[in-house]
Amino acid sequence: THPYELLRVEDLRVAYGEVQAVKNASLTVGAHQIVSLVGSNGAGKTTLLRAISGVLPLQAGRVVFGGQDITRLPVHARVGIGLAHVPEGRHVFGPLTIAENLRLGAYSGTDKPAIRRRMEEMFELFPILAERRSQQAGTMSGGEQQMLAIARALMSQPRLLILDEPTMGLSPKMIGLVLETLVRIRSQQIPILLVEQNTVEAIRMADTVYALRVGEIVAQMPGTGVTEDVLKHFYLG
Ligand code: ATP
Repeated sequence: THPYELLRVEDLRVAYGEVQAVKNASLTVGAHQIVSLVGSNGAGKTTLLRAISGVLPLQAGRVVFGGQDITRLPVHARVGIGLAHVPEGRHVFGPLTIAENLRLGAYSGTDKPAIRRRMEEMFELFPILAERRSQQAGTMSGGEQQMLAIARALMSQPRLLILDEPTMGLSPKMIGLVLETLVRIRSQQIPILLVEQNTVEAIRMADTVYALRVGEIVAQMPGTGVTEDVLKHFYLG
């Protein structure tokens, strides 16, 4: 394994019964990278992320994380070694406050001073959450809830952040804020693997972009090389 390579996915195959959702996918995420998966609806992007975090069983293939083969590791053990997955949609606990949501994200929930320190770090990274720490999460805007979902995942001090369409359904201003935050997360040495299909700016800021088409990775390029035309080509085949 390359020393700067944090995640390596080799020849992954995933099926839902008869539906072969991922046929053959290999990718790597470097230690300081944002890696983006693109592809049309049903291409297998969400399935691939879920297989990497262990939510779905593999038919074939291998997942190596930090040099360790984690192919057969259960989900909770993957979380424990630093894989954090924020699924599609904003899964925050609506009736709880922002601060309570963050506390729930701390993986080892016993060291109170450490949790408090981590929470303060999150408030620095997401000033929008700091102002509202006592507000009920369910009353925040979609963008704010997305920020909270990301911050909660970061509470566990992951070594890799996996995000499924973090800009989905957000206003242009909120999309800008989320993307800025992702760049700051990368600058704190936490690499990000994300699915993005609509926001060209989000795709262009990625160090590496993989294009999926009907379950197969068909192209790999630097984010800066991605234009509207290139995307159209991958989405429309
Ligand atoms: P989208 O951009 O629409 O979210 P995607 O690229 O994330 O799409 P997946 O959600 O991974 O695609 O779906 C890949 C394929 O697997 C699709 O054909 C989909 O219909 C199928 N699929 C997804 N989830 C299930 C499931 N729970 N049971 C059966 N088939 C599924």
